[in-house]
Amino acid sequence: MVNYDTVLIRFGELSTKGKNRKDFINRLYGNIKYMLRDFEALEYRKAYDRIYIKLNGTDHDAVGEKLKKVFGISSFSFTEKVPSDIDSISAACLRIAKESGYKTFKMITKRHDKSFPMRSDEINRACAGNILRNTDLKVDVHNPELAIRVEVQEKDTYITSEKIPGAGGYPAGINGKVLLLLSGGIDSPVAAYMIAKRGVKIEAVYFHAPPYTSERAKEKVVDLAKKISVYTGKMKLHVINFTDIQMAIYQKCPPDELTIIMRRYMMRIAEHIAKENKCIGLITGESIGQVASQTMQSLLCTNAVCELPVYRPLIAFDKQDIVDIAEKIDTYETSVLPYEDCCTIFVAKHPVTKPILGVIEMHEHNLDDCIEEMLNKAINEREVIDI
Ligand code: ATP
Ligand code: MG
Repeated sequence: MVNYDTVLIRFGELSTKGKNRKDFINRLYGNIKYMLRDFEALEYRKAYDRIYIKLNGTDHDAVGEKLKKVFGISSFSFTEKVPSDIDSISAACLRIAKESGYKTFKMITKRHDKSFPMRSDEINRACAGNILRNTDLKVDVHNPELAIRVEVQEKDTYITSEKIPGAGGYPAGINGKVLLLLSGGIDSPVAAYMIAKRGVKIEAVYFHAPPYTSERAKEKVVDLAKKISVYTGKMKLHVINFTDIQMAIYQKCPPDELTIIMRRYMMRIAEHIAKENKCIGLITGESIGQVASQTMQSLLCTNAVCELPVYRPLIAFDKQDIVDIAEKIDTYETSVLPYEDCCTIFVAKHPVTKPILGVIEMHEHNLDDCIEEMLNKAINEREVIDI
């Protein structure tokens, strides 16, 4: 019986990172251990270009499901570990071939330990010869049903027949921190996932408007934050009470400009919190043309209040593509729960789709007598939740 006792993890993109490599590997190593923290029997080892996990009897499917969510892993395999001598290697390859039930195979050997006395192609030939003599399998180098992979390391050799794709990207947290504007919708959790994939750490802000938005709507955002934290790691969620500001805009500004002015105040508050928490950018789930507040002209008006860069990873995505990712990362079901959102409560029947920045700025002056105080209050009295 083949005994897949060790997980072998490959890094991909990390390999190109020169002297930062050590930081990358350490971060990935920590993130993997955190993701697998419930499996107590696992033993970890990191090497120059691989991380190894000894399973010690742990259910390998359960480990595999978790590993698929860790950014920075390009692929992984469940392997049988044998001593680095040709007889042990060849015997393990034969076991895999016999158990596979396939008719054609190919050997793929990587000799990382250059002191091993045989070259890769010699190892391939020795193992293939043994399989050909002892089974009915035939070699097919172009389109084999079974690819037997052999990695010769110094003491041990790892043998596998499958290479499982990882999540790709960079280990969460390696690339600085940004503040995500997280609503209860479909888009912003997907935006978070995409930015986190580039190794960026995330903190989040949510604007609610009690009593116009309910406690349940807030719980939904907390649930979404928990779901994305599987990918991003722990995060802080700032909850801002936006009711007074929204009411003031509603009472004092033209109805068709409500949403755009509201978005500008959200961005101002977000930027303030970002700077206070050492975030070096903002993220939103906006996508060109999706709604009136996301036309190019509207985005120009929203952007105009920000000094920090605003990253919009979904900017050119169609809704269906966003939904597909939301389903993949398991946020869709939560996002479509029908709780009211603070933007939808005060929406105008006919919002401007081509706002003019100068006009918006002029109408914002209607708030001059009260807005400063309201902004300070909203920021100072915010709730901070650890996710
Ligand atoms: P989503 O599906 O992410 O809610 P949406 O299609 O509903 O987006 P808008 O409501 O225009 O679009 O919001 C655009 C972006 O502004 C959101 O993706 C999010 O980043 C941010 N945003 C909107 N409402 C809120 C809110 N209540 N709290 C925090 N951020 C918000
Ligand atoms: Mg929304």
